[in-house]
Amino acid sequence: MITVESLTRRYAGFTAVDNVSFTALPGRVTGFLGPNGAGKSTTMRVMVGLTVPTSGSATINGERFADLPNPGLEVGVLLDASAQHAGRTGREILTIAADTMGLPRRRVDEMLELVSLTSSEAKRRVRNYSLGMRQRLGIGTALLGDPRVLILDEPANGLDPAGIRWMRDLLTGFASQGGTVLLSSHLLHEIEVIADDLVVIGNGKIVASGSKEELLAAAGTLVRSTSPRDLAHALELAGVPSTLAGDGSVRTDADPARVGAVALTAGITLTELRSAESAGLEDMFLSLTADTQREGVAA
Ligand code: ADP
Repeated sequence: MITVESLTRRYAGFTAVDNVSFTALPGRVTGFLGPNGAGKSTTMRVMVGLTVPTSGSATINGERFADLPNPGLEVGVLLDASAQHAGRTGREILTIAADTMGLPRRRVDEMLELVSLTSSEAKRRVRNYSLGMRQRLGIGTALLGDPRVLILDEPANGLDPAGIRWMRDLLTGFASQGGTVLLSSHLLHEIEVIADDLVVIGNGKIVASGSKEELLAAAGTLVRSTSPRDLAHALELAGVPSTLAGDGSVRTDADPARVGAVALTAGITLTELRSAESAGLEDMFLSLTADTQREGVAA
């Protein structure tokens, strides 16, 4: 598992990561979600020893990355797919990594096949790779040592829809065999379809974390009716707090059954009644990060 404890990283008075704590558990895909500049990459860089924390710690299976004797066998890392040596071929990059980790050369071919890079593509220099091909190669490099933990920063960047589906299947398969996956994204949809657990970060601080179901359930109920004001009034009389939005929808923390019952008693026609869950994470994400995004723009 991955454990982050009270992690803070400051740059010349600017706090990029502010007292962040969370865990990513085995058998789960943990999505690390936040707008650009929220502090995701910095947190991940600390996890793999590339950035020194100002205070706090990040450990992988209880050890700091720097203390792992052969880290590639325990944790696969993909932080920046374009950080590979552009003059080397894909095969060379995997071969050097395999040699460094003391792995048999056959792992190189196994990984090329796993990430669907053909033998002619593997012979091309990485400078001539598309971003999607670099991401595939990066994922192949991360998986080379057959680690039990994966740390991936924006791995879906540059992948086409088929590539995203492929990656999703790969990562959920990895987690279902007991692996720990932490992946970051600033895109909600990517995370929503793949993650079991979510850690949402804004302006360096954790703004929400928990299982996807828990976080979505907290989104409450959305209801529309031909007479939204009457509905909001009926809910108020029934002791159910609600808010009437500008688009005529009514939101409440009460569950849909309760809202439906109130509407029935009041004789109000509903045109839509659903758990806000089906609206996806977007509302939650936008509301959770709205302040931090504004501040981020202003800063
Ligand atoms: P994310 O990955 O969520 O987009 P980052 O972790 O890359 O966010 O960045 C968080 C904040 O820290 C940003 O405002 C970024 O500009 C700042 N930052 C990151 N690295 C450095 C650095 N080396 N020096 C100064 N500021 C940095």
